[in-house]
Amino acid sequence: MPLLVMKFGGTSVADLDRIKNAATKVQREVERGYDVIVIVSAMSGKTNELVGWVEQTSPLFDAREYDAVVSSGENVTAGLMALTLQEMGVPARSWQGWQVPINTTAQHSAARFVDIPRANIDQKFAEGFKVAVVAGFQGLGPDGRITTLGRGGSDTTAVAFAAAFGAERCDIYTDVDGVYTTDPRITSKARKLNKIAFEEMLELASLGAKVLQTRSVELAMRYKVRLRVLSSFEDTDENSGTLICAEEEIMESKVVNGVASSRDEAKITLVTVEDRPGISAAIFAPLADAGVNVDMIVQNISEKDYEDHPGSVTDMTFSVPINQVERAKRAMEEAKAAGHIAYDELVVDTEVAKVSVVGIGMRSHAGVAAKMFKALADENVNIKVIATSEIKISVLIDRKYMELAVQALHDAFGLEAA
Ligand code: ADP
Ligand code: ASP
Ligand code: MG
Repeated sequence: MPLLVMKFGGTSVADLDRIKNAATKVQREVERGYDVIVIVSAMSGKTNELVGWVEQTSPLFDAREYDAVVSSGENVTAGLMALTLQEMGVPARSWQGWQVPINTTAQHSAARFVDIPRANIDQKFAEGFKVAVVAGFQGLGPDGRITTLGRGGSDTTAVAFAAAFGAERCDIYTDVDGVYTTDPRITSKARKLNKIAFEEMLELASLGAKVLQTRSVELAMRYKVRLRVLSSFEDTDENSGTLICAEEEIMESKVVNGVASSRDEAKITLVTVEDRPGISAAIFAPLADAGVNVDMIVQNISEKDYEDHPGSVTDMTFSVPINQVERAKRAMEEAKAAGHIAYDELVVDTEVAKVSVVGIGMRSHAGVAAKMFKALADENVNIKVIATSEIKISVLIDRKYMELAVQALHDAFGLEAA
């Protein structure tokens, strides 16, 4: 029997009516002759609420208990989806991660898949069940405890199941009808893409376009899963939405194909750090040990008068997700107290955002950076940090200019026109 994976995000299962709407889409695929694995998210807002409860209870929480709490939203929707399908006459059964079991690494709150044994689900299909509903975002760690896959992780659950079960396609149903040139909530000029290359989607996702979790795109690329993003709220067919595919499948491509933004950024500067071999390792090792995800890094000559510091000194600036500032500060203060690093001051700027342009055409075209910086300068947006890779350029700017910067870059690179 051909098999499809269909994933429904938070807004698509936000209440009982929407679950019914999603179930109707599943029923249609069953009627077309497919066995279906449905991956569900928690009802929209639920995971945020659960995370909030954990943080209020314990600011530097134990990640095992964080996972125990925040994974629970998906359990509710999985059961409700199975019940809704049963009410429609579609034989369906639900699974929580540990029941499959979805085996993951031990990294609580950021676990990765190890394997997904098929036997339990295959047996139910063999018994005549047509739909297996699986709670997204969660798994089972080697310590026998529940893990989660990082925010947005249900996308990755969907792709992992598509790979494990050899699905014909993995359809990600969400509140937009595809992947756009930029977040359509930021500019109405955003244009829907019919196809986007894995590499570009990977960059857009990791730079803040939350329409797909980064890891889901990585897995789809590795296991050659046909991955599609489409609307839960519109009538859809096999040509709807956006296909994430190999570069070779795309005929027309611009130099820049997308603009991504991420508002939850913070910038930390260690002022007047002793400049010696090994200093970067001494700073970033304790940050890594504390589980801080450092993103952009700049080292510059200290502007301070450093007469009282014999030898050379430097300022070290790096960006971290805003909710990791306290962890980062604590790691730096402990490293300083232990005598591993020395600095005069630790300055935190929590009012920054990252804006990036992405395109595989950058590999062979010069001048993208110049055009980007000019477009930002024309809007009087000051750039605080710059980072580049083969197919992207990112800048850190004041958060209040984020939307303005996205719109200016979308215009500058002519993304509105096909
Ligand atoms: P779900 O709950 O279905 O997983 P998400 O909220 O995680 O949905 O992702 C969908 C959202 O991603 C859209 O509502 C949109 O605002 C946002 N988004 C950001 N960048 C893009 C983009 N380039 N294309 C489409 N949507 C985007
Ligand atoms: N519910 C989880 C989250 O909000 C996982 C997901 O929706 O993909 O992050
Ligand atoms: Mg999501």
